[in-house]
Amino acid sequence: MVGIINSYIDSLALFLAILFIQGMSFRKIRQYRPSWFHNASMKIFLSVLLGVYYGLAGVYFIYLGAFENSPVVFTNMRILILMLTSVFGGRIPLICAYVVMMLGRISLNADPSITGRYIILMSLIFAACLLVTFWKKQRFSKFIALLILSFPAQLYYFINNFDGGHILQGFEIVEYLFLSFATGLLVFYACNYIDKSNLVIQTLTETAMTDSLTNLPNMRFFTQQFAWIFNKSLKKKAPLSLFIIDIDHFKEINDFHGHQAGNTVLAQFSSILKNRTFPPRTMFARIGGEEFAVLLQNVDATQAALIADHIREEIERAKFPYTPTSGQVTISIGVATANCSFSTTESLFEAADQALYQAKQSGRNQISVHQGDAI
Ligand code: GH3
Ligand code: MG
Ligand code: MG
Repeated sequence: MVGIINSYIDSLALFLAILFIQGMSFRKIRQYRPSWFHNASMKIFLSVLLGVYYGLAGVYFIYLGAFENSPVVFTNMRILILMLTSVFGGRIPLICAYVVMMLGRISLNADPSITGRYIILMSLIFAACLLVTFWKKQRFSKFIALLILSFPAQLYYFINNFDGGHILQGFEIVEYLFLSFATGLLVFYACNYIDKSNLVIQTLTETAMTDSLTNLPNMRFFTQQFAWIFNKSLKKKAPLSLFIIDIDHFKEINDFHGHQAGNTVLAQFSSILKNRTFPPRTMFARIGGEEFAVLLQNVDATQAALIADHIREEIERAKFPYTPTSGQVTISIGVATANCSFSTTESLFEAADQALYQAKQSGRNQISVHQGDAI
């Protein structure tokens, strides 16, 4: 009994480490590449990656089972891998994990009849896991259903001894089933905990980085991304352009039509910005009351001036339906492009800000491109 418990504890620790590494990696991906989770083909890629990762973990347990003296425990771990990928990951990760595990099993080059029976056993579990992915229930219900469904398969394995190990008898079977159930529950709770805490962190991070009125990224997000994108462009020697946009006479809208009208203008202006087409990887943020920043990668000064003037024209043409009345809104844009003379984010920002000041001084509703060298 002590031997079984030790094997379970060892494999459980390993399992938890596998879960933890995956949870951490996905958290990092979400942090640095949030767009991957909104893009259909990237989502498929991530699902395949998840499946292959757990499949490889399964292969590791298959090898441990083959070379250690507790194959039952490791078989149980493989079964758990299929269950968890199905409940937490869904169909694609499950199928990938199953394929990788089967290939791993075949690569062991064991007696074909043992391999055949293993494949049948795992395929039965896989079929149950696949079925459960179509079941619209809570994760916990799905998992319990899978644990119960897996019992006959496990029982068959325990009493058949088809890999030449130890045949279980009498009370031993109950012990193994109990331990497998307990490990299953523990692993489920660990996985659920990692998943939930990742979700909470993601929600909190998004909330802390988003402006609630316009749903655009806020200054905090902008500052973070700006430094990262700036260094990337500098290394690649690629042009990087920055617009600082300021709504003209915004205070008058507030004063004449009320604060709510001002808010409507801000929200509508932001949705125009979000819905228009920009060069790939353009980033916007609300960086102040009625000030916005647009950061355009691989866009040189000439292109930047053209894009900025198009935005200005679009806003000039747009009708802003705030109540009690509605009207025209204009903006001024300061444009600066990073080249050798701008060596820091601060100097690029300062250059765009100076250009904005120039546009305001020259009568508003216009763009101004920062000319000249280092400030
Ligand atoms: P300029 O053309 O020189 O930019 O003039 P302006 O009136 O747009 O600029 P000013 O800086 O004088 O006024 C900005 C106003 O924006 C003052 C502030 O009350 C208002 N404001 C800041 N944040 C918000 C907000 O979230 N909602 C609303 N409705 N008004 C805001
Ligand atoms: Mg302002
Ligand atoms: Mg203004």
